[in-house]
Amino acid sequence: MKDIIKKRVLVTGGAGFLGSFLCERLLDEGCDVICMDNFFTGRKANIAHLMGNPYFELMRHDVTFPFYVEVDEIYNLACPASPVHYQFDPVQTTKTSVHGAINVLGLAKRLKAKVFQASTSEVYGDPDVHPQPESYWGHVNPIGIRSCYDEGKRCAETLFFDYWRQHNLRIKVVRIFNTYGPRMHPHDGRVVSNFIMQALRGEDITIYGDGTQTRSFCYVSDLIEGWIRLMNSPDDVTGPINIGNPGEFTMIELAENVIELTGSSSKLVYEPLPADDPKQRKPDITLAKEKLGWEPNVPLREGLAKTIEYFDGLLKQ
Ligand code: NAD
Ligand code: UDP
Ligand code: UDP
Repeated sequence: MKDIIKKRVLVTGGAGFLGSFLCERLLDEGCDVICMDNFFTGRKANIAHLMGNPYFELMRHDVTFPFYVEVDEIYNLACPASPVHYQFDPVQTTKTSVHGAINVLGLAKRLKAKVFQASTSEVYGDPDVHPQPESYWGHVNPIGIRSCYDEGKRCAETLFFDYWRQHNLRIKVVRIFNTYGPRMHPHDGRVVSNFIMQALRGEDITIYGDGTQTRSFCYVSDLIEGWIRLMNSPDDVTGPINIGNPGEFTMIELAENVIELTGSSSKLVYEPLPADDPKQRKPDITLAKEKLGWEPNVPLREGLAKTIEYFDGLLKQ
């Protein structure tokens, strides 16, 4: 009998860094979870601990091709997230965001299911408004090396809002700011994973540009809490809604924290800044506070310590 009342949830990209934490949280909440992934950047190790759970099901599939499952809610996370990964096959990146959104929305339309889109602060591009509120339309290069990701995600947002207007779908669009934590890909080239791996190995820490550019880092558990609150919020709360940590740090400050927490003797070295690298980024989370009663509460150093422990464990395997 209990099975009948379980909420069935599809998570695309569920074997990735964020997806694995979401699947875990949904199972904890008593949902029946289908994790769909093509393992482009996701890893079986991320979900190995869930495989024995009878309410967890893994489906190897590429979101750009149609799929037919019966669920009540859908979280669409499928998309490589780090520049190294999404620039590896940029055409596929745009297809994943755009064709993926169309398929997920078509599925939600057929099932009348609530559907969540993992959008990104990258829709703001290299912002000339700081911090970034949801009402800011962004400053994005449409033809640069980051565009496959930024414009793909912007188009996915467009599709979500057109399905909402045209087909009355229940949508939830979140704009995620830089998030970190255990299960980040150790070779994804992102700043947190790079700095920690370099520090743990005693290698030079690579600062791109002069290191004064800023980012705001949200610990994964805070982020997932915000997502769940958004998904459970009233239907008129469609987003887009920023979820991120407004604490803003320069890359030099981040490196100094990592060096201190690892006790590493690594030195900072300076390398060229990649094209279109945003100079600053920080979420305005007024809306999330107001609509979801959400704000992050894991301080950077606490989250970094947990992440360092994870990477240290990987290196010792
Ligand atoms: P990730 O790379 O670890 O996870 C993405 C997952 O999607 C992987 O498991 C990958 O194999 C899967 N995937 C990729 N292409 C697919 C396809 N065509 N079909 C099926 N599965 C596919 O990245 P993440 O950090 O967990 O990011 C999850 C989502 O959150 C992404 O949509 C990303 O754009 C978004 N996001 C993440 C961050 C962040 O800081 N981590 C920031 C903004 C937005
Ligand atoms: N789709 C899917 N699974 C479903 C329903 C639809 O993958 O259960 C795909 C379908 O292949 C289509 C897309 O979602 O390409 C968009 O569906 P929609 O109904 O909006 O458009 P249409 O089928 O009319 O093109
Ligand atoms: N960065 C850096 N050293 C690295 C990797 C990244 O200084 O080894 C910088 C990068 O240029 C950017 C910031 O750190 O300014 C965040 O980069 P990341 O790729 O993590 O995320 P995004 O640029 O997508 O926010």
